Amino acid sequence: MSAAEPLYRLQQLDTELDQLRRRVDQVSARMTDRSEVEQTRQELLHLEERLKMETDKLQAYEAQARALDEKINTEEKRLYGGQIRLPKAILEVEQELSMLRRQRSALDDAIIDQMARVERLQDEVKHARTRAEVVEAHFAGESALLREERQRLLDQARVLIEQRKTLARNLPAALLQTYESVRSRRPDTPAVALIKAGACSQCGEAVSSADAQRAHTGDRLVFCANCGRILYLP
Ligand SMILES: [Zn+2]
Repeated sequence: MSAAEPLYRLQQLDTELDQLRRRVDQVSARMTDRSEVEQTRQELLHLEERLKMETDKLQAYEAQARALDEKINTEEKRLYGGQIRLPKAILEVEQELSMLRRQRSALDDAIIDQMARVERLQDEVKHARTRAEVVEAHFAGESALLREERQRLLDQARVLIEQRKTLARNLPAALLQTYESVRSRRPDTPAVALIKAGACSQCGEAVSSADAQRAHTGDRLVFCANCGRILYLP
């Protein structure tokens, strides 16, 4: 058995653990990403504000219309009540009345347009609210799934960590130390490189057949001349 063989098994566990940790990080990031929920909520708020503004405007038009009606009513009473007798004064009131009626008619058009605008916005608010509810429910459902997945990954990692501990305990201390020191130079990449087609599989550096033989059965470690990784030939 080569000295590198148990280190290679350690390496496989570490690679699996690295992958698991990366997936846990990804899942955690997705669990906390509420951007879609926030965005739909902001859209709803924005529409509700616009609806409030346009409704206020409609109410202001309606108040103006009531004031104008009152004014028209007063002028009509003056005109038809017989209080005004001079033709010039009658003409003046008639002119005033026709101006007020024109204003009133223009206001009616504005009110109809404004009502349509308010109704459109009410529809938009209704849709945005439904959308926000759907997105929120989806997020809650996805969160539950992600929590389960995260738990599953953590359970797997715990098993691997135990296996790694057992393996490491049975290794000579010096060997383990060498492994850890090679690994710490390039975290997240394998510290043990397989020899493939006469070369280091991590950096491609050629390995002599004597070194390959030692990496296969030798009781001392062989290192890649280029990247410094521990070489292993199964
Ligand atoms: Zn190499």
